[in-house]
Amino acid sequence: MNKELRKAVIAGNWKMNKTPDEAKVLIEEIIPLVKDASCDVVVCVPYVDLCTAVAATKDTNIAVGAENCHWETSGAFTGEISPSMLTAMGVEYVIIGHSERRTYFGETDVTVNKRVCAALKEGLKVILCVGEYLEQREQGVTAELVAMQTKIALQGVAKEDLKHIIIAYEPVWAIGTGCTATAEQANEVCACIRKTLGNLYCEACANGVTIQYGGSMNAKNAAELLAQPDVDGGLIGGASLKAPDFAAIVAATQ
Ligand code: PEP
Repeated sequence: MNKELRKAVIAGNWKMNKTPDEAKVLIEEIIPLVKDASCDVVVCVPYVDLCTAVAATKDTNIAVGAENCHWETSGAFTGEISPSMLTAMGVEYVIIGHSERRTYFGETDVTVNKRVCAALKEGLKVILCVGEYLEQREQGVTAELVAMQTKIALQGVAKEDLKHIIIAYEPVWAIGTGCTATAEQANEVCACIRKTLGNLYCEACANGVTIQYGGSMNAKNAAELLAQPDVDGGLIGGASLKAPDFAAIVAATQ
């Protein structure tokens, strides 16, 4: 029943793929396939594709997101992009704390928190990623770990801003590996995250937050994962680069 309180959101994470010309082609392929979607549809694309993506999705039901942002508005941060630069372009969403940023680019829970606060202040909707390594799952600390990641990432975030937060539970061992979490595993951790939100804010607040699963979700396994009571959508990597597969996942939210 609580699931009806939340909007399902399917977001593609294109990672470091597609030139602007290729982005236009892919988006034009996706548009007719998802036009009747009952969920929110987002494509998170590389910085260089944002302008093209915003133009290509104008007057459609697809929103555009970036894959990261800095916490400062401007200044001597070579190579970085600020939240206000994104909103000025018409970008609505930003992924923060993806495991690839944490693993390869030194992202910490503290810098994730700074980015989340800065993005919210600028009016962006945040897709906050949390999730455990396989070793941590085997050590039995998944619940504590995602609770800690969630708590730190949301420090200083007001209850009223929760409506702009989506949490993506992404077990690191499932990302890009073809080794999807079972529907039960995905639901169990999404429920833990919701419980954490309930403790931090309130139960009703927690029941309103969209929690996605991400990690090798595809056209075949999406329906089972998305049918779970605490899984409200998906963050999709590889399968978001193929229009029919992405559209099939969007359709699976029904
Ligand atoms: C991701 O990058 O967020 C992701 C879930 O990737 P994939 O779907 O390819 O596992």
